[in-house]
Amino acid sequence: MSESGAGPVIFAAGTLIPVSSPPLRDGALLVREGRIEAVGAIADVGRENPDTEVRFFPNYTIIPGAVNAHAHLGFRRKDRPEGTTFSDWLGALIERLPEKEAWTAEAASDCAREAIEAGTTYMAESSPYGECLPQLAESGMAGTVYAEFFPHEIGTPEEAVDFIVAKVRELGEGLPERVDAQVSVHSPYTVDPESSRLVARKTREMGWKLAIHLSESPEEVEFLKSGTGGLTDIFGANEWGGVGVSPVRYAQSVELLAPQTIAAHLATGVSQEDIEILAQIGVAVAHCPRSNAYLRCGVSPVPAMIASGIRVGMGTDGLWSSPSMNLFEETLFAVEMHGMSGAAGLELATLGGARALGIEAGTLEVGKWADLAVVETSQEDRDLERGALEAAAGGGVAATVVGGDMIYNRLGT
Ligand SMILES: [Zn+2]
Repeated sequence: MSESGAGPVIFAAGTLIPVSSPPLRDGALLVREGRIEAVGAIADVGRENPDTEVRFFPNYTIIPGAVNAHAHLGFRRKDRPEGTTFSDWLGALIERLPEKEAWTAEAASDCAREAIEAGTTYMAESSPYGECLPQLAESGMAGTVYAEFFPHEIGTPEEAVDFIVAKVRELGEGLPERVDAQVSVHSPYTVDPESSRLVARKTREMGWKLAIHLSESPEEVEFLKSGTGGLTDIFGANEWGGVGVSPVRYAQSVELLAPQTIAAHLATGVSQEDIEILAQIGVAVAHCPRSNAYLRCGVSPVPAMIASGIRVGMGTDGLWSSPSMNLFEETLFAVEMHGMSGAAGLELATLGGARALGIEAGTLEVGKWADLAVVETSQEDRDLERGALEAAAGGGVAATVVGGDMIYNRLGT
């Protein structure tokens, strides 16, 4: 699948959008050992590296690869649970977990492939006990599996935390260079406060990252504020709701919030006070607007969060709540919803995600990994960023390169 050669390669295109600097017509990147060594005009980069292999895409635009800051690989497009509320949907999903085992691995491979063909180069995936790690590791993408754990299935909070920490250590062995495993605290209504606190402390001690779902649905807000609603009995075991505060305040009280934390959704019940807490602590956010719309979870106040200095990336979530694994399509939806510019959108899909996850990617600049997408665009576009985003959202990705390896290339050139 990979077409990586041993030597350096020049990737060049009619337009190059580094995101970290203005777009370049007839731009090129010199890539050596997976990283970008030079960025400039094709003529200059070519002259300075005369015997280097050149992959030239004249009628295309090269952009940084999409960084998917929150996704689930193990769902398939067909037969998603029906539900008029978030808790109905989640209840139906949980009921089908035994049946789902038969096809989760196949779904994960298919979803990874779909993401790659849409220009995704880095994926932050969350799955129960990291079950989708093999498919992510084999896909060619860089990424992190965040292993969710459900303490009521394991034992005491101490036992549950020891278990998931050991599990993540085991998952981390023998992985490709740019794939790793971390912990996810699934949500405030599935993981009890003591397990949340203990695992948050433990992961921070070890310098690990932590993924959480937070303030996603009206029912989550209700569960935490008053201990009532559709999520009070999700596993027949969560009795810690009714604490009278917002999900953000609750997460802060159990020490889940930190600069290493990436919180997905923040779609419902996020106040200005909550935004200030997130900004002050430095929590990163993954915005999943299509999933939020499908599950009637409201609109995340992303412009206000960005204005407060919060690091925001985009996430597709999984195919049982979202129509595709195309992160650029997700981002175009956000751009329309929030009235953002094409440049702001392209930055959210790439550098925004990289900043949120604390990874060295998201722009095409010297020293970074050569993670990029080659997109078929009209070279006449007046708004180059918007044009590239629309093209990538609409199936225009022709090739995907991760760390200099072309892991997808429908052009055959
Ligand atoms: Zn999710």
